[in-house]
Amino acid sequence: MKIAFIGLGNMGAPMARNLAAAGHEVTGFDTAGTSAEGVTAAGSAIEAVSGAEIVITMLPSGAILRAVADEILPAIAPGAVLLDCSTVDVDSARDVAALAQARGLGALDAPVSGGIGGAAAGTLTFMVGGSDDAFARAAPLFEIMGQKAVHCGPSGNGQAAKICNNMILGVTMIATCEAFALADKLGLSREAMFDVVSTSSGYSWSMNAYCPAPGVGPASPADNDYTPGFAAELMLKDLGLSQQAATAADADTPMGARALELYRSFVEDENGRGKDFSAMLPRFESRRRD
Ligand code: NAD
Repeated sequence: MKIAFIGLGNMGAPMARNLAAAGHEVTGFDTAGTSAEGVTAAGSAIEAVSGAEIVITMLPSGAILRAVADEILPAIAPGAVLLDCSTVDVDSARDVAALAQARGLGALDAPVSGGIGGAAAGTLTFMVGGSDDAFARAAPLFEIMGQKAVHCGPSGNGQAAKICNNMILGVTMIATCEAFALADKLGLSREAMFDVVSTSSGYSWSMNAYCPAPGVGPASPADNDYTPGFAAELMLKDLGLSQQAATAADADTPMGARALELYRSFVEDENGRGKDFSAMLPRFESRRRD
């Protein structure tokens, strides 16, 4: 298949490389000039999409996705599928899909879970919004780049699933960190805390698979001085998207709102930038009154 890949950053480059390694003809473009093994570098986004049957985007934000879509949509061959794998706001996903469909293109929003490791290993999970036809056409590519693709409904529903999942993740990570900090003060060892909670009703992915306490549980960024993993600023971005969606949909999400406030303070005022999102634990070790 002839594939264009726009946005060859931390996630996009290994995803594009895996598609090329599987035998697809991949042409890539990134404004930073990055490329990926096996991928032909184009001089512009318009050049990259010329003749492509699938156009994949993996970009930082909804605003950038909208700008790139405005630029490339007129240059994409009718009948091709625009497959956006970025994490963006639901409105941008729906608007871009509508513009693509108006030009006779298929459109899917397919944000991912699994991070840089999953992108490199081809084990991402895709949460997909869009038509059955477009989903069926992209399915062979999901199989190369990932281990699972869930069709969540019409356009925008992939982004909806992603931001709801990550709102739960942010809230449970904070709850897990503050429970460890409380347990410390109550004289409970971190090992005992992990052993109890990971097999009791307080368990979660944050505790069991990504424990924020160093030296406890399976290996996690906490064991590597909180080097990401999943950076705190990416969690801040996703919590911002879920609150934006909650406001637009008039949904009541007080824990998500509080998690956004805490991650904003952590990233902007407490040297959290560049650290893993589980690095919240040391932040709770001394009591604050904010
Ligand atoms: P990144 O910043 O490493 O990559 C984004 C790339 O897009 C950069 O290389 C940048 O130069 C390029 N770019 C920006 N504007 C462009 C334009 N107009 N045309 C072409 N290229 C352009 O980010 P990333 O970590 O690869 O994340 C990409 C997306 O995946 C984001 O939406 C992020 O939220 C999401 N995501 C990231 C992770 C993760 O762990 N990194 C996990 C899940 C989802």
